Amino acid sequence: MDKTRTGRPREASGPTGDSDHAARASRPPRAGAAKRGEDLVVFWTLNESVCSECGEELGRGSLLRLEGERALCLTCADLDHLTFLPRGDAALTRRASKHSGLRAVVLRFSRSRKRYERQGILVEEAAVLRAEAECLADADARAARQRRDAEHRAARDAEYVASFARRIGELLPGCPAAERGAIAEHACEVRSGRVGRSAAAKELDQGAVELAVRAHVRHRHTGYDALLAAGVDRSEARLEVAAEVDAVLDRWRAPSTRRAGARRR
Ligand SMILES: [Zn+2]
Repeated sequence: MDKTRTGRPREASGPTGDSDHAARASRPPRAGAAKRGEDLVVFWTLNESVCSECGEELGRGSLLRLEGERALCLTCADLDHLTFLPRGDAALTRRASKHSGLRAVVLRFSRSRKRYERQGILVEEAAVLRAEAECLADADARAARQRRDAEHRAARDAEYVASFARRIGELLPGCPAAERGAIAEHACEVRSGRVGRSAAAKELDQGAVELAVRAHVRHRHTGYDALLAAGVDRSEARLEVAAEVDAVLDRWRAPSTRRAGARRR
């Protein structure tokens, strides 16, 4: 198969391969025209060379094409209309390759690893532009989806807050509306991260709702926080304010027809 055992750049010893990393040393690079389905290969030279057709000097780091034993500059190889796309963006590379009528793989020999490594591809400029546009459109679509997800989440949260507040109103009709909202919003924050209807439903159990309300009352309607700030042990502080908390909850449990501050007889 390999007619070209000679004529490769001095460092040459291995081949192409479509993987993004190059190249096993067992198959030398094709020097002639690419066969169907096989990549055209262009070398990133490590040594100075000369184009065997036009005589142009090809310094280190220039690209050259091998035809048989001859090194050609890209102009003489009829590849100078292509543009270099460095490796690193797999989606861009894949799309640019797809849209380009002609494509060449750029290989450079790694002296340390003793193998050819793929540096990127040469493709038509228009193919790169089209690929870039597609990648951008994808990014836009992703951003739009994230926006939609966030909106759905916000809607779910709002629904949860509303139903939690409604549940407080059922169980503790005397609880002022503003406080119902505050308790419900806090419960939603605590819950955020969890999902699922059953979890939400469980949280609307009487016990769970009252627990949330008690915590709120403890902080807002008793001296609990002041006790904590003064260094009182948490369980001791809770014990100390428990009666106050119960009193507030009892008051709130009264039917909503009772006006705030109205006394039971
Ligand atoms: Zn030339």
